[in-house]
Amino acid sequence: MNGGNGDGDLRIGVYVCHCGINIASMVDVEKVAERAAAMPHVVVARDYKYMCSDPGQQMIAQDVRNHRLNRIVVAACSPLLHEKTFRGAVERAGLNPFFFHMANIREHDAWVHENRDEATTKAIDLIRAAVRRVGHHKALERRTVSINPNVLVVGGGIAGIHAALKIADAGRRVYLVERELSIGGHMAKFDKTFPTLDCAACILTPKMSQVKDHPNITLWTYSEVAGVEGFVGNFKAKIRRKPRYIDEETCVGCLECIEACIFKEGKFPDEYNEGLSKRKPMYIPFPQAVPQVTAIDPETCLHFKTGKCKQPCVSVCDRKAIDFDQKERIEEIEVGAIVIGTGFQTFNPTDRLPQYGYKILDNVYTALEVERLVNSSGPTGGEVVLRDGSRPRAVGILHCIGSRDTKTNIWCSRVCCMYSLKLAHLVHERTKAEVYNFYIDMRAPGKGYEEFYNRLLEEGVHFIRGKVGGVTDWAMVPEEEGRLVIRVEDTLGGFVRRVPVDMVVLSTGLEPRADADDVRRTFNISCSTEGFFLERHPKLAPVETASDGIYLAGCCQAPKDIPDTVAQAGAAAAEALALIDRGEVELEPNTAYIDADECSGCKSCLSLCPYNAISFIEEKKKAEINEALCKGCGTCVAACPSGSIIQNLFEDDEIFSEIAEVLSDV
Ligand SMILES: Cc1cc2nc3c(=O)[nH]c(=O)nc-3n(C[C@H](O)[C@H](O)[C@H](O)COP(=O)(O)OP(=O)(O)OC[C@H]3O[C@@H](n4cnc5c(N)ncnc54)[C@H](O)[C@@H]3O)c2cc1C
Repeated sequence: MNGGNGDGDLRIGVYVCHCGINIASMVDVEKVAERAAAMPHVVVARDYKYMCSDPGQQMIAQDVRNHRLNRIVVAACSPLLHEKTFRGAVERAGLNPFFFHMANIREHDAWVHENRDEATTKAIDLIRAAVRRVGHHKALERRTVSINPNVLVVGGGIAGIHAALKIADAGRRVYLVERELSIGGHMAKFDKTFPTLDCAACILTPKMSQVKDHPNITLWTYSEVAGVEGFVGNFKAKIRRKPRYIDEETCVGCLECIEACIFKEGKFPDEYNEGLSKRKPMYIPFPQAVPQVTAIDPETCLHFKTGKCKQPCVSVCDRKAIDFDQKERIEEIEVGAIVIGTGFQTFNPTDRLPQYGYKILDNVYTALEVERLVNSSGPTGGEVVLRDGSRPRAVGILHCIGSRDTKTNIWCSRVCCMYSLKLAHLVHERTKAEVYNFYIDMRAPGKGYEEFYNRLLEEGVHFIRGKVGGVTDWAMVPEEEGRLVIRVEDTLGGFVRRVPVDMVVLSTGLEPRADADDVRRTFNISCSTEGFFLERHPKLAPVETASDGIYLAGCCQAPKDIPDTVAQAGAAAAEALALIDRGEVELEPNTAYIDADECSGCKSCLSLCPYNAISFIEEKKKAEINEALCKGCGTCVAACPSGSIIQNLFEDDEIFSEIAEVLSDV
């Protein structure tokens, strides 16, 4: 590869992009190219409509050959978008790809100015600074490291299940880690799914069984990722496996221990049924749970609480699967890629929106609770009944509870309109009650969704447009006595309504899980302002994260329905497989390194590194940076009191020359 050494050898090419009219409408690109041509060491300067296009890149490559260029400056958009493209073009032309610099004259100039002359002058200044800087660039080499072919999938909802199966079917080993006793996530609680109303269990349970039986999948339920170290292609994860006090290998899920339990009836709130039924201390979360293994809840089991239980469960278990001494275990695994599918939680209206009466008025339910009520394996066997066992005659479904509201969550949860329609249909079908939907806007933008909405209109479900002010049990007229009253401003009719009903369903929105920040830290990924995990680029890299080798699937990234979740999980699996199949990965060299002679061993950099890339070598009393882990964020460089940390592509002479030039009066 060729490259200039001293100033005298520098032969620089400058390329000014019009970006259609994005830049050219505000910057006089011809004038800029003309002025660039006269800058020191610039051999050729050109402007072109789309520099990132194939002809644009060819133009650069040809000039490198014809004019023996050894440094390239492209003045165009943000490096975030096309630095990689142009480095590739420079490399293909035979130059070291780091003998290149990009001046951002779009976001930093054309898009933020209104005066063409000033924007043109600024573009010239930015290019002059880039030309001066690029002369200081050094040739850098990318390193390659091999990739471990195993994949860790975190979260066993439909996202994690689908991703795990795709990767395992491609012949790769998958470790699927699920926090709860069974995989299945939220979908396992539904009876039907919109808009087709197909049976959720019929779609989900075969996939859950496939996970359990797949020779390439190691399933660890009731487990969490305790820590992750390493970098793309070479992660080491510690998995904490919590004790369920039953030997998973031995238990066959015969349920005899549960029947024998000293508690003859369920006494404790059943989490799977949203607390609408009771379970024993010994239980399997739901009939189709995977794995079909009992668990003992030490918080409620008499043996753990008092030590006085005669343990009838132990005597009936022929397989000797019960183990009260089981302890937490840590498994250590090595993987090349990670897919995170930890899902969401639903908005809890108890304290945050007390005006809707949840946990205050008996017959106010959340949508998830009603999902359990309409489910044939739910607490009422699919009967929609009130707390006193009677059937509701009128039901109100309140949309957007904890969504599209500046006081709670500003985002649209994307699925609530549709699941409200589904519940309206199911409740009406089971009870023949009058069903009222109170909505702000109906959002039905999926395949078959609008048609489903029309079907509900034809079924006679009522739709009232307006945000409900509150729910009370205060009767103004005799027919409201003993009922719930919904107060709403009907924005289509232009008047206030009082609608008496027997049951209120709160369509609660989707939120980031309460522990999302801990998970974010464990995996070193970022969150958006709402707290959902952040993709690398919303359009161009929607399943990647800023940490190479870590991908996102499902509602942990943003609210979405099951079809979109499955599509994204498939994409995350494909990305992970594409990475692994490469066999090795190239590491960008814009990392930091320590000049060991200058390092005072003060350790101040250690705690600052967000990527845990810096360690302290006791024998040498010096800090050391693991290049594979370093992401080149520059935090340690700025903080080092002795100035001994240097970052490739951001060395002092490169930065100072750029600043000096941009500030100089020419
Ligand atoms: C009331 C309601 C009804 C709905 N009805 C429909 C419908 O009919 N049709 C439709 O298309 N969509 C529907 N949806 C949306 C649907 O629920 C989601 O699209 C789907 O559940 C997203 O799947 P997921 O795997 O991303 O998340 P989840 O279902 O939340 O699964 C995440 C999994 O990760 C596990 N987990 C979480 N944190 C960790 C951790 N740190 N370590 C390990 N495991 C962890 C969880 O225990 C869970 O098993 C509905 C949503 C709601 C709230």
